[in-house]
Amino acid sequence: MRAWEENVRKVIPYVPGEQPKQKDIIKLNTNENPYPPAPGVQKALEQFSALSYDTLRKYPDPSADVLVESLATYYHLEKDQVFVGVGSDDVLAMAFLTFFNSSRPILFPDITYSFYDVWADLFHIPYERQPLDERFRIVKSDYYKKNGGVIFPNPNAPTGVLMELDEIEDIIKHNQDVIVIVDEAYIDFGGTSALPLIEKYDNLLIVQTFSKSRSMAGMRIGYAMGNKTLIKYLNDVKYSFNSYTMNQTVLAAGPAAIEDEAYFQGTRKKIIETRERVKKELRELGFAFEDSMSNFLFVTHEKYMARDIFEALKRSRIYVRYFNHPRIDNHLRISIGTDEEMDCLIKFLKEYLK
Ligand SMILES: *Cc1c(COP(=O)(O)O)cnc(C)c1O
Repeated sequence: MRAWEENVRKVIPYVPGEQPKQKDIIKLNTNENPYPPAPGVQKALEQFSALSYDTLRKYPDPSADVLVESLATYYHLEKDQVFVGVGSDDVLAMAFLTFFNSSRPILFPDITYSFYDVWADLFHIPYERQPLDERFRIVKSDYYKKNGGVIFPNPNAPTGVLMELDEIEDIIKHNQDVIVIVDEAYIDFGGTSALPLIEKYDNLLIVQTFSKSRSMAGMRIGYAMGNKTLIKYLNDVKYSFNSYTMNQTVLAAGPAAIEDEAYFQGTRKKIIETRERVKKELRELGFAFEDSMSNFLFVTHEKYMARDIFEALKRSRIYVRYFNHPRIDNHLRISIGTDEEMDCLIKFLKEYLK
């Protein structure tokens, strides 16, 4: 090792799902929405290109005011209760940096979004994983001990398991001296948001994203909602890091997605319907899984190894996600695509599992 390498900040990075270049694949590996964004988004982008092209030479609005305002209106909040970032990954990273600054470990589940331990390592935040029970449920009493903060997704990823609101409130009640972050990346697929609880608990931060339920992973929009003091602290850190996080096209397109409620409800409902149908079909094929309230299913098969199925699917150009991690290395995470895509998957599995 060269001498200078001793002082390099070394990290083991998060591994995103594959984004294959070929077009003729069925992509069920990164929980993207199979439907396009709301039509208004396309219009907003066209209009931006026609009317505001020249303004690209200027910096964007650092406060992302139009986007913040449209989210605040949608959720019946004040503007100073909303923080936006470049996908919820950016929002979560800022929240880790801002709120997890204790010598006590932060707590999160052993099976969860695999970015949490990466940010904790990056920012030198101590952490302790709390094991899910055998049915992949969060055990709330594990979070009642002294800690430096709490974070978990609801529904959890990659399990899809939803926690009821009263249990979440129990965790918050036992943690009023630290920040509790609920990562609601998948909440629009059938869960109940903990958002109303921000009025009751000033230490609760809710994080959501346009990437899944609003079909805009490529635009990178995430947001956090909470007490205005929390949002102020987040903004202080953001402005100490990068002021111009949201670019001008994002500021034009984001609000257009929020405005089309009918489209949002329609695609959301479609994915939920497809998911419920696919649950039945996968069970008939010998797959087992806990109930999922997200846009993916986390399945294991009674006879066939997940890794073998994963590789066979890939050879047939159907991409799903396999995690070679403890406790889940015989599971596959399958995103819910269109009905046609799911039919192809089922057809392949029927042949393969014969
Ligand atoms: C997808 C996902 C995110 C991040 O999504 P962005 O595209 O960065 O908004 C955050 N948390 C969980 C649990 C996710 O699955």
